[in-house]
Amino acid sequence: MDCCVIESAANVIKQELYTGFLEYVRQHKLPTLTSQTFFRNLPMYARVEAAQLEKEGKRKHCFIGIGLKARKDWGRKEAEDEDGPSANNWTPQESGVCNVCGREATLGLDRTGKFLICEKCYGVDP
Ligand SMILES: [Zn+2]
Repeated sequence: MDCCVIESAANVIKQELYTGFLEYVRQHKLPTLTSQTFFRNLPMYARVEAAQLEKEGKRKHCFIGIGLKARKDWGRKEAEDEDGPSANNWTPQESGVCNVCGREATLGLDRTGKFLICEKCYGVDP
């Protein structure tokens, strides 16, 4: 579920998590679940702990260990993996000294096509 952050420090109001989930499945045309099933299955995705936390001056049923991502971040990771400019198309060409880290390595052209760099430096943003 990439609408969520699995993080021990995160927490979310139970109802908001479910509302977010419903929105998410609608966007992705996935089958919905009843809240009962959803909450019962939740431990399969994340190690969560039910708790009552004070939110907006009221005690609410919450989960600790999971949070809801901002809507705009939903599915962003997938998009980047598929056709982002950072796709790994470094190809080894020759041995030499990397123009970035100065180490002896197998080198390939960087993203600009001007410098020979090692594979490790290709994966790092300048
Ligand atoms: Zn390097």
